[in-house]
Amino acid sequence: MLHNAIFNLMEYQSIINKISEEIRPLLNNGKVASYIPALARVSPNKFGMAISTVRGEVFSCGDAGERFSTQSISKVFTLAMVMDSMGDALWERVGREASGNPFNSLVQLEYEHGIPRNPFVNAGALVVTDCMMLENAHPLDDLLDFARKCAGNPTLDYDREVAASEKATGHRNAALAWFLKSYGNLVNDVDKVLDVYFHQCSLAMSCTDLARAFLFLAHGGTDPVSEKIICGPRQAKRINALMQTCGLYDEGGEFTYRVGLPGKSGVGGGIVAVMPGELTIAVWSPGLNSAGNSLAGSKALELFTTYTAKSIF
Ligand code: GLN
Repeated sequence: MLHNAIFNLMEYQSIINKISEEIRPLLNNGKVASYIPALARVSPNKFGMAISTVRGEVFSCGDAGERFSTQSISKVFTLAMVMDSMGDALWERVGREASGNPFNSLVQLEYEHGIPRNPFVNAGALVVTDCMMLENAHPLDDLLDFARKCAGNPTLDYDREVAASEKATGHRNAALAWFLKSYGNLVNDVDKVLDVYFHQCSLAMSCTDLARAFLFLAHGGTDPVSEKIICGPRQAKRINALMQTCGLYDEGGEFTYRVGLPGKSGVGGGIVAVMPGELTIAVWSPGLNSAGNSLAGSKALELFTTYTAKSIF
């Protein structure tokens, strides 16, 4: 066991060091998200990677300790809270199929009568946020507490500048929210839902925080470090399944083909992937590809699963 741990320590550390060198030429190929002005200021040269294992080991390199905007990665926390509090009633308001459309698309919502395809496209996440607000008297505090519990880090916080910046420019999300309201699939006041949603997206975390925060999904719903139960094993399995099919928007097939792990991305340039039973891996590189996923981050995860032969397939 000890030998094994030491072997892994050297192996994982040298693999992520090697990957961070190899992806360096790609850092300028992506485009930092500019539709949220506060995100446009982030340097495209940032790159970090962190691994958390279910045995409690942590490996990291580059800018893994620097906090960035989690954006859509935060949708996993809200979903976990709502799946726990609402159970199957959630699925009357949101679907579980890949959308095959960009994350902020409006068209599908009309064809499908106001029921978003899945909880990770923006329309679906707005519905999940609305549900979370119905179940929690203090949604922003409760969500922050939940994320802090998952990450084992009581200092996590929202980035209020990013939230305000998105609120000022998030016209598409406002359109989606009003559209949902017109179909009767948004219960709370539209402006209040948008405010909670924009704060949720602004949650600032590092790769190290994110790898630790997703560890419960690699360990049947329980954080193996603190031994706190975050959700049941059935929910953990289902969240991983949803990340596999819907976590990378209209690039879920490509990510599955290239990386072979359930994952969740955000336009802040982060991606977290889960190897059930073993580890989580978080990567951050702000330059995005045309689907809104981190360009170098996707490649880094592909190299990781190639070098380690770790995949759920
Ligand atoms: N806050 C972003 C938005 O709503 C989240 C999208 C994302 O990360 N893909 O546009």
